[in-house]
Amino acid sequence: MLHASDFKEFYDISAPLEVAPIYPGDRPFSQEWMARLNEGDSYNLSALALGSHAGTHLDFPSHLLKSGKSQDQYPLKRFILSAEVVCVSGDGPVLSGCLQGSKIDKGQALLFKTDNSQKRLMHQAAFSEDFVCLSLDVARLCVADGVSLVGIDYLSVDKYGDDSLPIHRTLLENDILILEGIDLSAAPSGVYTLICLPLSIKGAEASLVRAVLVR
Ligand SMILES: [Zn+2]
Repeated sequence: MLHASDFKEFYDISAPLEVAPIYPGDRPFSQEWMARLNEGDSYNLSALALGSHAGTHLDFPSHLLKSGKSQDQYPLKRFILSAEVVCVSGDGPVLSGCLQGSKIDKGQALLFKTDNSQKRLMHQAAFSEDFVCLSLDVARLCVADGVSLVGIDYLSVDKYGDDSLPIHRTLLENDILILEGIDLSAAPSGVYTLICLPLSIKGAEASLVRAVLVR
């Protein structure tokens, strides 16, 4: 049996919700205190409000596709998988050339560590329009190689303002889950086990996750 002590390295690649940027038009995260010990109540109790694409989250095919699968149609093993962190430099879209030298196994995850992580964009409340996104060419390579999940270190795999969402479509139409809003600033490139469990909400087209890398 595998135990936490079998792993030497742990990286929390989730963004703290109270500082993470909000995609324009989405509902802001809030935590309202319903009762507070230091105000004389007998317990602390809070209520949360947030969009389902807040902070670090998974997109499922039903986000864009009428008959696409939603959260509850995936087995847990889709959320616990072998993942490679691939470092990419430059401020243009991630191109397929960055995968030269990576041995991609069918069913694994690919997480792209770009300038977004360098700039710690997921820790800055102000939304950045010129984040590094993916190219169609790298999305198609992920499809061809049978990748099961693709991660990017900002709030969208698509370029800001491109409402046709070609990268989302290419990935989701091919049953590749999309992990958005990760922060890879602390995680060196290499191979890990990724754990990113969505909340159990029937029919959810997206879900907040706590994403961690271990090895
Ligand atoms: Zn999303």
